[in-house]
Amino acid sequence: MEKENGGMISPKLIGTLEGIFRNNAGLAKMLVGYIGKFYEKLRLEYGSFKIMDFCGTHEWTITHYGLRSLMPNGLELVAGPGCPVCVTPSYYIENALKLGFEGVVIYTYGDVFRLPSLRSVNGASSLAEAKALGADIRIVTGIADAIADAKAHGKKSIFLGIGFETVASGYAQTLISGLLPDNLKLMSLVKLTPPAMLKTVEMLAKEESAVKGIIAPGHVSTIIGAKAWKAVAEKLRIPVVVTGFEPIDVLIAIAEALKNLFKGEANVSIEYTRAVTWDGDLKAQEMIGKAFRVVEDIWMGIGLLSDSGLRISERYSFYDAFREYDIPEIAPENCQDDLPKGCKCAEIVIGKDKPTNCPLFMKKCKPSSPVGPCMVSLEGTCAIWARFGADGLADRIAEELDLR
Ligand code: SF4
Repeated sequence: MEKENGGMISPKLIGTLEGIFRNNAGLAKMLVGYIGKFYEKLRLEYGSFKIMDFCGTHEWTITHYGLRSLMPNGLELVAGPGCPVCVTPSYYIENALKLGFEGVVIYTYGDVFRLPSLRSVNGASSLAEAKALGADIRIVTGIADAIADAKAHGKKSIFLGIGFETVASGYAQTLISGLLPDNLKLMSLVKLTPPAMLKTVEMLAKEESAVKGIIAPGHVSTIIGAKAWKAVAEKLRIPVVVTGFEPIDVLIAIAEALKNLFKGEANVSIEYTRAVTWDGDLKAQEMIGKAFRVVEDIWMGIGLLSDSGLRISERYSFYDAFREYDIPEIAPENCQDDLPKGCKCAEIVIGKDKPTNCPLFMKKCKPSSPVGPCMVSLEGTCAIWARFGADGLADRIAEELDLR
């Protein structure tokens, strides 16, 4: 295990683990044993506490494989703001709706297509509704599809660039390489994750059960490197573990975080050595630095965070949808109530509450008819819980694997 100092599991054992991340009840049991032992010691000092995962895919693994059911009482696994669609203020979708009705072709990912806007525009409260009402909204799998399509028709177009650092390098490359046709502009709504992780944990510091360890996102860390979490770990004085997406990866990360907490080490460990290095992808970082400027940005549920967003740099501003269509940046006071009535997404994206405590969960709000943003994307906590966590599936899997 690569890390700043020391390690619970030897590199040799980690090498062996590479091929056995799946269907390994024996290893899972061993890790659950470690977790129980470390928590037993830590409970005396901290009482109940939380380990936070940041990435929606980690939340998927935890919920889908029933890992919560394996945790000792008092150790809670909570999801943080790791779903870019969930934390994008409605304001930007409303601007895309407006431009769509003015005849601009809007390219979007499939989940953003269904994201509800708080205020309707011309009778549409999502890009899906705008399409039904005649706006030219097109779902694509990435910016390359949008480039090919926009070149073919030549009409004024916008690609909605929602995501974290993982997608930023791809956008940067298209800008730097001059791949965008003149008629296609990029609305960069890319968010940078470390400031949000720091703020989220700080927001929960006064809760009865605080966050004492972080499972850092694996995909994002391939780009920014584990080094990006060093300041977070040091400032919060809690361990951070970068990990992969198999259930065994996540169990190792929890055990490692507890062990480091027990040893009083506020450090960063890399469990996901098959994809992540300390420095990350330096070439991608360089391209991102060239194509974008870092700005303060608004995260739904968290608020205004400095150095937490990317907008297109001056050098490539010809392709900037904000500039082309004169879209003003959102005023922080305009997104305080940026959620439908009754929706608890603001508490859910910071791990303060659970989807099952929302009165709308699986009643008015379902994956097929989402009310709030956390029910839209496959990375949204409510959508994940709705599909895998709300009907006792987790307990049944644990029983089947003889892990209870
Ligand atoms: S269940 Fe729906 S309404 Fe409730 S918090 Fe989740 S997304 Fe919002």
